Amino acid sequence: MALDLDTRDQLIETIRRFVAERLRPLEHQVAEDDAVPESIVAEMRELGLFGLSIDPEYGGLGLTMEEECLVAIELGRTSPAFRSVFGTNVGIGSQGLAMFGTDEQKARFLPRIATGELITSFALTEPEAGSDSAAVTTRATKDGDHYVLNGAKRFITNADKAGLFTVMARTDPDKPGAKGVSAFLVPADSPGLSIGKPEQKMGQHGAHVCDVIMEDVRVPAENRIGAEGEGFKVAMQVLDRGRLHIAAVCIGCAERLIADCVTYASERKQFGKLIAEFQLIQAMIADSRTEAMAAKALVMETARLRDTGASTTLEAAAAKYFASEMVGRVADRAVQVFGGAGYIADYGIERFYRDVRLFRIYEGSSQIQQLIIARETLKDYAG
Ligand SMILES: Cc1cc2nc3c(=O)[nH]c(=O)nc-3n(C[C@H](O)[C@H](O)[C@H](O)COP(=O)(O)OP(=O)(O)OC[C@H]3O[C@@H](n4cnc5c(N)ncnc54)[C@H](O)[C@@H]3O)c2cc1C
Repeated sequence: MALDLDTRDQLIETIRRFVAERLRPLEHQVAEDDAVPESIVAEMRELGLFGLSIDPEYGGLGLTMEEECLVAIELGRTSPAFRSVFGTNVGIGSQGLAMFGTDEQKARFLPRIATGELITSFALTEPEAGSDSAAVTTRATKDGDHYVLNGAKRFITNADKAGLFTVMARTDPDKPGAKGVSAFLVPADSPGLSIGKPEQKMGQHGAHVCDVIMEDVRVPAENRIGAEGEGFKVAMQVLDRGRLHIAAVCIGCAERLIADCVTYASERKQFGKLIAEFQLIQAMIADSRTEAMAAKALVMETARLRDTGASTTLEAAAAKYFASEMVGRVADRAVQVFGGAGYIADYGIERFYRDVRLFRIYEGSSQIQQLIIARETLKDYAG
């Protein structure tokens, strides 16, 4: 159920203050250390950030999609690595279970996911199955009342901290593609499961991705999410939702960068004038503002549509595509507005430029969003 408006505004204000006062001062340090301090993680727990999307019955805040997007916009106003700490618990790591799990599965895991005691990860991508995610080769072979999992997952966010993975694995090797895939809840301490070293990334330092290797990992059959062969459907529905959240984060990042541009342009003088007075600088600010507003309208409209129970596959893909490309252009203009300073680490703009690059790649690249948008449009307009 939606929060009443006062409560919603209070929540947004609390998060805005947390971002401004607690997270922003640490941006540089987190990037340098490639780690978010434990004291900040503890504050995130207290604020309920790990449980934003989880039903209050299991200890979460149970936000609507519209409310979650408003929160995600606030979180976007600082380094995206902070959001990653709890991002998988709010989205891809928990939602397979939240949407398709049995009451027993939910009662077993969701309360600890909501508090942040248990970190969750979503393990779909493999070395040979990225955009073509239905091609997963990780095997889950039935053995009595267990499945035995073998395979390797790649680039899994928070894998080094996760206590629980949602793993997509092939239960039916005779069914190639989506139909042979099932989803499993796999505890990280399962014998045979190991985690690779965190990858060196272009940006979002402080957030980690690792390989997850499974060698004869025995998973009780009761840990399967949904029916056999429904795993790909679970993954796609989780991503449908996750894409809206990511699109909202892109808006927050864009608004932050626009504000930084205005501040800098209002202080920096060239040719005896503030650069904010130059119309060519103003044009860049105007383009960034317009595009951020357009993305916000699309994301919030889609979130409200989703809250009515309607399918938003097309709209969520369009929102993620537009917002992630938009923030890339905004970050590029921000470097330009800052001039040489935009290229120098101390100003933080080049860091954002690198950080936002990821949004065009994960949870479905821009090309994959284009394919979804085109597929749905061709269906919609088929005579
Ligand atoms: C930091 C980070 C975090 C991640 N976190 C997770 C996670 O938590 N869980 C998880 O499961 N995965 C995660 N991923 C994986 C991510 O979702 C994939 O990297 C992404 O889906 C792209 O797959 P790929 O890297 O194999 O690229 P590829 O699929 O090899 O794509 C390479 C290029 O080809 C394009 N392309 C592919 N197919 C087509 C097509 N049919 N038409 C046109 N162009 C096409 C792509 O758009 C891209 O430009 C993460 C990745 C990164 C980098």
